[in-house]
Amino acid sequence: ENTEPRWSRVLLKLSGEAFAGGDALGIDPVTVSAIARQVAQVARTGIEVAIVVGGGNMFRGQALAERGMDRARADYMGMLGTVINSLALADFLEREGTVTRVQTAIAMGQVAEPYLPLRAIRHLEKGRVVIFGAGLGAPFFSTDTTAAQRALEVKAQAVLKATKVDGVYDSDPHTNPAAVRFDTLTYGEVLARGLKVMDATAISLCMDNAMPIVVFDLLTEGNISRAVRGEKIGTLVSV
Ligand code: UDP
Repeated sequence: ENTEPRWSRVLLKLSGEAFAGGDALGIDPVTVSAIARQVAQVARTGIEVAIVVGGGNMFRGQALAERGMDRARADYMGMLGTVINSLALADFLEREGTVTRVQTAIAMGQVAEPYLPLRAIRHLEKGRVVIFGAGLGAPFFSTDTTAAQRALEVKAQAVLKATKVDGVYDSDPHTNPAAVRFDTLTYGEVLARGLKVMDATAISLCMDNAMPIVVFDLLTEGNISRAVRGEKIGTLVSV
């Protein structure tokens, strides 16, 4: 087993969907505490961990807009959902003994620190986990794009995209049993084939800055640590 970690500072992207556990919506404490345990395990080994949490278990702006809401306002609801998830994760991380700070792109001083990149880096250097809530603070973006941007700004070495699937496939593995999983991909292949890794804005940002992305299954215990150590799990997207 490889014990030398591949990266010393990572940006972990957690999909909001994962927070709901078996439910469609809301927060499942058992699932969030299991995620927190994995993150705490990695943080204890001295890896600096910054996290962007999605909000798909609360609201997706696009889905609300399709049902008649103004898109921008619906997106702000989506961003606020990510803050709720961030607070839940912070709570379970603190229970694991991991010192955690939440920073939000929409200022809400009673709830969290404002997003201050230099302070976020200081937290990371001190071994604190930093969770970035409220996305980029701007409608028409996603938390995947937020993950790419925050990874670049806090100088993480990789985006670890933890989801419900164990990598990137050439077709939907739920509907096509013959779907094939990729071990590695280039950004260009992802864009050209329209593969559902992250949205095109996020992929382009990573491509322009050679930020590697690892897509893997979050709910397999120990996977975050495996991804950090560079074990062959999921799909690696790079140059
Ligand atoms: N969102 C936004 N700007 C951002 C990040 C998120 O408007 O910078 C909104 C958008 O409506 C999105 C929702 O927040 O649908 C939840 O985020 P996302 O869909 O990325 O969550 P995930 O799919 O990762 O759970």
